[in-house]
Amino acid sequence: MGMAGGWLLPSLFTQCTPNDPGPEINYAGSVAIIGAGAAGLYAADILRSKGIKVTIYEAGTQIGGRVKSLRNQPVTAYPNIPLMSSDFPLELGADTFIGTDSILGKIVQDYRLATTEFPASANHYVIDNTAYSATDWGGDPDFAAAMAFRQNLKSLAGSSQSVQQEIVAAGISTRAHSLLNGTIGNLYGADNDLAGAGALGEAETLRTGDGKVLVLTGNPLQELLISRFNGVLPSVKLGTPITSIQYGADPVVLTAQDGSTFEANKVIVTVPVSILKNGGITFSPGLPGTHTGSLAKIGMGASFRAIIEFKRNFWGESVGFIFGSTNVPEFMSMGLNRSVFNATLQVTVNGAKAATYSSLGDGAIDALLADLDLLYNDKAPNPVGYGTKYVRRKVDPVTLAETDPIYVMEDWTVREHILGGYSYPLPGATNDDRKNIGQPINGKLFFAGEATDITGNSGMVNGALASAERVAEEVVKSILEPA
Ligand SMILES: Cc1cc2nc3c(=O)[nH]c(=O)nc-3n(C[C@H](O)[C@H](O)[C@H](O)COP(=O)(O)OP(=O)(O)OC[C@H]3O[C@@H](n4cnc5c(N)ncnc54)[C@H](O)[C@@H]3O)c2cc1C
Repeated sequence: MGMAGGWLLPSLFTQCTPNDPGPEINYAGSVAIIGAGAAGLYAADILRSKGIKVTIYEAGTQIGGRVKSLRNQPVTAYPNIPLMSSDFPLELGADTFIGTDSILGKIVQDYRLATTEFPASANHYVIDNTAYSATDWGGDPDFAAAMAFRQNLKSLAGSSQSVQQEIVAAGISTRAHSLLNGTIGNLYGADNDLAGAGALGEAETLRTGDGKVLVLTGNPLQELLISRFNGVLPSVKLGTPITSIQYGADPVVLTAQDGSTFEANKVIVTVPVSILKNGGITFSPGLPGTHTGSLAKIGMGASFRAIIEFKRNFWGESVGFIFGSTNVPEFMSMGLNRSVFNATLQVTVNGAKAATYSSLGDGAIDALLADLDLLYNDKAPNPVGYGTKYVRRKVDPVTLAETDPIYVMEDWTVREHILGGYSYPLPGATNDDRKNIGQPINGKLFFAGEATDITGNSGMVNGALASAERVAEEVVKSILEPA
């Protein structure tokens, strides 16, 4: 549904002059927004540009939510920051976006920011612990069948099976199951056992645009949010977790964790779906069955990110993503076409395997290097793994001996106020469930955030931004046309 050309187009307001007679919408009330991630910031920005009073309540200590760039983090939380040497932005959460013509793509163009494409032709795919390009896999029939299955995911719209059940039903060889886990389930925030095939097929059908996979070449994504939504930053109350919303009252009463209360006439909730599902916010009255029923069909589970630096690139200078290793569904060679060193790997693991890494704590790094060693080694009878051999390590200042690997990790599974990766559909869910979760209640309670996206971009920053456009339109409508 985007609003390009629509009556709420925020850029219309950039044409306002100081002589303008006043706000476009005369509204004496106020709107509270819960959460200062991409959805909350954008919704606030659109409403503010219409002249509507907004306050954003954010539980955490910084804006961005699951957009979290390493450059903006304190060394106390990430002690290896001074040792990281990558010459491009390092992202602990979202990094890629799909489509030069997507909402985020257009913001990036407005700011004239350089982007780098990660084309599918740069991907490597793992079968039998071997990483090859699609061309190199050539005539391997199991690879061909798996890629055809991936290509045809759209045709599974309507299925009530898990992705894995559909893979088995399609007779795909077990040799290629991890590969499909890397290119489907993990990409969508889960794994193939957990994710529902029908809604993923539906999402891929709904998503429009040129489909290019892009990253910012030099700008951290969180800093782009800070620049683009600069106008609403003074309206953000950081460190204010909201624990209850009494929307039966007029005005609505919000209670924060420390017991303080706030009032607003309308409230937009943009918190991750995990927070809604585990009762992190109490609603009074309770949410209706349409909301709770659909919430039960959308999952959000374990998610683990690590960024590891190496002394040399042993996986290939022209390689982008490496999909489908048994334990690491996605490696991303972050320096592709944007680094003079190009020797950094980013690991993204969702679903059950993420829970395993999460349970290992700092030991996860050794497990990840061991997984890399299986893929890349000197192939001798007792192979020396390149992961362990070439990882950059700290150097003892006295003995000059190399010690611990240099890396950063973000365990989203336990990150307070997020509690997981991003939303995915359970088997049997449909896009209507996302629509239901986003339904406004009584013209007072509204919902946005990636999980409520209905444009096929759920789980992504573009989905969060699209949901902000939808919810802003709903709020304005409720003001202009009260029921
Ligand atoms: C590891 C990882 C990799 C990802 N990779 C990509 C990618 O490459 N591309 C992409 O497009 N997307 C990616 N995503 C997903 C993307 O980050 C999210 O879809 C998007 O940022 C969600 O925005 P949001 O505003 O809906 O939610 P959030 O960013 O989660 O914002 C919600 C905010 O609500 C706050 N909050 C929670 N509870 C409360 C409360 N009780 N009171 C007040 N505030 C509260 C949270 O602190 C948070 O700041 C990734 C996510 C992860 C975890």
